[in-house]
Parts: sequence; structure tokens; C-alpha cells
Amino acid sequence: MAALHGQQNTFFISSSIEQEMSKHMYNSLPQEACGVVLGEAAAGGIRISRFQPIRNVAPNPLHHFSLDEAEWIRCIFNESQLIGIFHSHPHTNPVPSDQDLIALPAYAGLIQVYLIGTPDWTSGSEPQMHLNGYQIQANIVDDPSKENQQKCYNLQPAQLRMT
Ligand SMILES: [Zn+2]
Repeated sequence: MAALHGQQNTFFISSSIEQEMSKHMYNSLPQEACGVVLGEAAAGGIRISRFQPIRNVAPNPLHHFSLDEAEWIRCIFNESQLIGIFHSHPHTNPVPSDQDLIALPAYAGLIQVYLIGTPDWTSGSEPQMHLNGYQIQANIVDDPSKENQQKCYNLQPAQLRMT
């Protein structure tokens, strides 16, 4: 087993919240769905306590997501438990795309949890969701071409536990 750099956190999610995300994802098809999750630190990880859908205002919502700015800003100021964002990949695996990584710095300083869901069409009558969780990590890197240090962010796979 490969050694993980740093500590791997666990995200605790109740099945009812997972179902809310799943429902929002299916209702948004064929477009990508997005939203924020609220929660707090818990023993061994982070407990996610609420999901709030946010409008996807990307110019091409079939393949990208962009949180409605007014709703996102309202969350930043009004939701003290803002801890992460969720979005869906209707047609690809629930892993961060190049585009997701490029957009990451816009959110990364404010949140710790990054969730990606994908429809699971193989699971019988009830539509299910594949959900992946990532912890946002900030690294300070020295950029020799610039005077200042730069913060760069990456996504570390986290364990998801349904409660
Ligand atoms: Zn994505």
C-alpha cells in the first residue's frame, strides 16, 4: 500500500443528505449540478450536515459548472458552517477534471471539502449516485519567477462514510 502524504480524513455523510445531492444531480440532467455543503470538524474527520443546491451558471453547463455568484457570496457571509462544494459529472467519472483543478483556487481558500457525484445507471430500480470526496490541501510554493510565495491547492482523496 502506498504511503499517503499527510493524514487521510474521513467525511461523514448521512444517507438523507447523500440522497438530496443525488436527487439534485438527477433533476439537473443533462447539465452538471452544483451546490454547497455545510458541516464541521468531527472526531477523525468532517461531518457534513446539510446540502444546499446552487444554480449552475456556466456558459456550457453540460460540461462545466460555475456557482451562481450571488448565491455563493450569500453562503460565504451567512453560512458559518460552509465547508465544501458539490458538483456532478453526468457523463464522466467522479474525479476532478483539468477544468476543475484550474477553477479550484476560486473556492479553495474558503472550503475544505470537494465532492463529485456521478449517476450510477447500473444499480437497479432506484437511481443511485457514485460519490467521491476530496480534501482540499493548500501548499505554499516558492515561485522563483515571482517575488512572493504562492499558494497552490490540490485535492487529496478522502474516505466517505455514510451514517
Ligand atoms: Zn468537474
